Amino acid sequence: MTRLADTHCHLNNDRFLDDFDAVTERTLEALDFAVCIGIDADSCKRAVEMTRPRLYAAVGYHPYHASELDDAAVAMLRHYTEHPRVVALGEMGLDYFNEYSPRADQQVAFERQIELAIETQYPIIIHNRDADADCHATLSRYADRLAGCVMHCYGADAEFARKFLDLGFYISFAGNVTYPKAQVLRDAAAVVPMDRLLVETDCPYLAPQPVRGKRCEPAHVLRTGEALAELKGMPFDEFAEATTENARRFFRLDDPAIAGA
Ligand SMILES: [Zn+2]
Ligand SMILES: [Zn+2]
Repeated sequence: MTRLADTHCHLNNDRFLDDFDAVTERTLEALDFAVCIGIDADSCKRAVEMTRPRLYAAVGYHPYHASELDDAAVAMLRHYTEHPRVVALGEMGLDYFNEYSPRADQQVAFERQIELAIETQYPIIIHNRDADADCHATLSRYADRLAGCVMHCYGADAEFARKFLDLGFYISFAGNVTYPKAQVLRDAAAVVPMDRLLVETDCPYLAPQPVRGKRCEPAHVLRTGEALAELKGMPFDEFAEATTENARRFFRLDDPAIAGA
């Protein structure tokens, strides 16, 4: 039976400090693989350090930390891409809900990271909150030169999902797609073809029903996968096989030259 992959988790978050080994063990037992995401200098360093077989890292500056992305930070991200278990750049993007970095800084950091991804031919993981039009406009300008792109923790509607799909992107859903009031997200998931769909936890945040409100961990991606399989009207095993295959293709895990470790 094929297992799911958690394509976006923050095992490098402080909330996993006390029981990191136990959580990691549960993760690797339950899942095919997981990708731990960096959001700033410290968390990228930790994500890279904690990699091991089937636990990969992505490195980037979240829009919250956009103002911190200076030349040295870009050089560090470039350096990390030489690590065999660093499989993507991100998360990066725009967040107009929490403007912890000013919008102008977010835009600059976003574009610098996209340009680095084009230079290194690394796929990118996009964080978009309440910035659908600007995210789409920015990514449209670069889409044909990208090695791959996923809209993580998808939070926009079906119409924008179609627009991102038209650019060749993947769409990834987190636990919030299971929330009773999240019909807009389920409508968006319904239009994503099975060869472009990914699943994630974004843990420790957004625990799916019925563990909502608790600290989320990668193994909880099963609940999200079950809900999405039902929405797609397919057996869970078939759903797991398709989305895990998508994830392995997106992160190029079966290409020994890229992620052979
Ligand atoms: Zn995010
Ligand atoms: Zn995240």
